[in-house]
Formats: sequence, structure tokens, C-alpha cells
Amino acid sequence: MDINSHTKILVVGLGYRSGLAAANFLAKRGCAVHISDSKNADELRGTIERLDPRVVVHAGEQNPELLNVGFDIAVLSPGVPQRIPLIVEAKRRGIPVIAEIELAYRFMKGRIAAITGTDGKSTTTALVGHILNDLGITALVGGNIGIPLISLVEQTRDDTVSVVELSSFQLETVDAFRPDAAAILNVTPDHLDRYDGIRKYFEAKLRIAKNQTDDDFFIYNMDDATLAGGIDGVRAKKLSFSLADNGADIFYKDGFVYRNGGSRAEMVLDASTMRILGLHNVQNAMTSILMVTSILTKMGRAVQYERIAAACCSFQGLEHRMERLGEIDGRAVINDSKATTVGAVEMALRSIAGKCVLILGGRTKGDDYSRLRRSMTGKVKGLVLIGESTDEFSRIFGDCTHTRAGSMDDALVKAMSLSAPGDTVILSPACASFDMFKSFEERGEVFRESFLKMRRGDLPWT
Ligand code: ADP
Repeated sequence: MDINSHTKILVVGLGYRSGLAAANFLAKRGCAVHISDSKNADELRGTIERLDPRVVVHAGEQNPELLNVGFDIAVLSPGVPQRIPLIVEAKRRGIPVIAEIELAYRFMKGRIAAITGTDGKSTTTALVGHILNDLGITALVGGNIGIPLISLVEQTRDDTVSVVELSSFQLETVDAFRPDAAAILNVTPDHLDRYDGIRKYFEAKLRIAKNQTDDDFFIYNMDDATLAGGIDGVRAKKLSFSLADNGADIFYKDGFVYRNGGSRAEMVLDASTMRILGLHNVQNAMTSILMVTSILTKMGRAVQYERIAAACCSFQGLEHRMERLGEIDGRAVINDSKATTVGAVEMALRSIAGKCVLILGGRTKGDDYSRLRRSMTGKVKGLVLIGESTDEFSRIFGDCTHTRAGSMDDALVKAMSLSAPGDTVILSPACASFDMFKSFEERGEVFRESFLKMRRGDLPWT
């Protein structure tokens, strides 16, 4: 449906960013905007102050009767599940329910590169943006990475590329969204507290390709069986990447990345020259190379692999993802606070040379955490358990050396005590942060502070 100054819109979920940005965007366009949030006005105060004064706020109200106002459309923030009674009733009344991403899409200009997957989305999104900008193309990076897409709309032009990170939650309510290039990095169990099994979770992710045609590109991980076996229905041109199979469009072998183009494979990247470490980042770089070449092809521009490779190498990575903080008494200390899934921790452990002490725990998400035992064998000397998962994890990992910590300072002290010079101490929690912190960023910052305190001598560990 067309959105214009006569449209009455209900934004569900104010959040910190995307609901706020969507409501302000729509109010500026003259729409009648109401916002509903389950939190009360006190809890929302800081955010309400940043709202356009024309927006009507229903704080602490998610009663379906709100719909009697007579809305033409509802915009759903990514954190709000579709199953809440307000949304169920909106759908029953025939009110279209769309995601903030979908709303943005209806106003955006230029090309779109969209990335989803269980792990690696933010890194890949940032890397694609970095490469494009390095090639002199204006890339706007947004979506789940923390910048609502709607707030970028006014900067889009016919010659810009919007690089969009999408979570499965955001994809649940896309409707017409059609990216020029879409990528699924991997599909490992996550958010099974919200999805009815991995199949449903995968189906949500696959919606990224639902409106693509054979004029578009779809990039996927050939090594991921769930993914590779489930994409028959995708209409876009498929491009694969692999760490193991030389038949993929782009693959990794003995430290180098090759592309299968003409009659024989051509080397495009020496992975040892990248600043971001680990095989998972090779996967992210392979995805990014395919994304960028797809976009360049659609823009009718020449592909210069040397320049793309140079940009992969100059990319510094994002904070809180395998971020090396430095060394204390011969131990490398790594902040991987963003590792909120088992898959991310498995990758972290694969990337560490030698032995490590792992700081693990937080709010669980319904995954089978015992899967971690395999990657821990021979690699993890000791576990330091934090957060509300401590009892559960001490049962699951009872036969490994483990100890409990009540704070991040305490966790670092105990991890140092369990380690020896030459080892790595890593925070890679496998869980969400909300039991102890506001976000994974805050958890990583608190860990960094503990590290700095210890390095200054203000947090003794011996
Ligand atoms: P997301 O946005 O999907 O959460 P990030 O790029 O922020 O992904 O990385 C989250 C965590 O996953 C980090 O711990 C990072 O080291 C790890 N990771 C990054 N890329 C991958 C990948 N391709 N496969 C598995 N784990 C990855």
C-alpha cells in the first residue's frame, strides 16, 4: 500500500533505535503516527524525548483495542515478536504488518546488498561497505548492525549502495524487499527460544531471497548442509563459497582464496595478509568479494580483484569480535563479547593457536550447549562461568576444569589464574548479555575495563 500524508500508522515497539527512527521519519512526512510499547512512560522517558512531538505514544499499552483508532498499516520493530495479541489482532483485521526494513525499502533509491546468517553478519556487512567505499562507490551501512535503515533513506541516491544487515526477526516481516545481492553466511541453531526448530529459523532467513529474480545474485555457504540443501526455490543467480570444496565459485585452499571464473581457478586473496583473523573471517571475506562483484556487475562496472583484495586486507574488523585487547603476563587477552551463539564460540576456538581459558555464560537461548564440548577438547584448559547460566553450564561441563565468577573483574582474575604464559584468555560467552549487561557492547566494554585495570596493576591476580 502507498504511504502518504493521509496514512494512519501504528509503530509497534519504540526500542532504542528503529521504532524511534521509523516514527520520526513518518511524522516528518506528515503521516498520523501512533507508537505502542509494552514499557511504561518512565522506562521510555529518554527515548520519548527524542520523538517528534506529533507522535502519539501509548506507553505500557499493547491492548488490541488500540486498533480501534483505525490504522492503515502497522510497522513492527525487530525486537517485537509477531505473536503478541496486538499484532495477531491487527492481522485478523486485515491491517498490513510490515518491518521497519520493509518501510525503508519502499523509499530507498540505488542498489541493495543484504546479508543474513547466524554469525558474521555485522563483520561482513561492514566489510562489504568498506570495500565498496574503497572502490569509490558510496556505500551506506545499516540495518541490524545498529543504524536503522530508515535513518539512511534520505542519503540514498541512484548511484549509492545500501549494505544491509538483516536478522531473522527482521526478515519475518519483509514483503516486497528485493536486494540486488543477498547472502546467507551460515545457519546454525540460534534463537530456538523464539523459533519452532531450525527449519523455521532457516525459513525466516531464506525470506531474504523471496522476491529476487534471475537478474539478482544469491550468495551462500556451500559447506553448510542446512543451507546448501534448502535453496532449490531461490530464483536469483546462485554463487557459492567454501572452505573445503574447489568446485565453489570462490574457495579457500592452503592460505589462499581462489575464484572459479574461466577455465582454471585464479588466486584472488592471500588470507594471511588480512588483519581480521580466523577461518570464519576468510568466509566473511569470500562472501564480501562475491557480494561486491555481484553489485559491480549489476552496476555495469569493471571488477578489479586486486583492489578488492587490498580493501579486504585494510579492513580492521569490528570491536567485540575476536578483538585482541593486548597481553598481560604472557597471556593474550581477547574480547569476543559478540559471540552469543555456539557457532561463534566454535569458530573462536578454531581460530586460537595453542591453549586457552574460556569465559563463558550469560542468558541462554535454547541451544544445545553441550555441542561445545567437541571444540573445547584439547584446546580449553579451563572455564570461568559467568551469568545466570552458571548452574546449567557447570552441569554440562562438569568434567572440565571450571570455576564460577560473580563479576567481570573476578572472571578475568580467575581466568588468569587458570592460564599459563603463552595461553589465550578469551571472553566468548555463547549467550546473550541481558542477564548482567544492557548489551553485548557493554559486556565487552566492562571486560576491556577489567583488562586495562589489570594491566595498570589496579586489579591484581596473583
Ligand atoms: P553477527 O552480526 O551475525 O552476530 P558478527 O560479525 O558481529 O556477527 O560476529 C559475531 C560473532 O561471530 C563473533 O564472535 C565473531 O568472531 C563470530 N563470527 C564472525 N563471522 C563468523 C562466521 N562466518 N562463522 C562463525 N562465526 C563467526
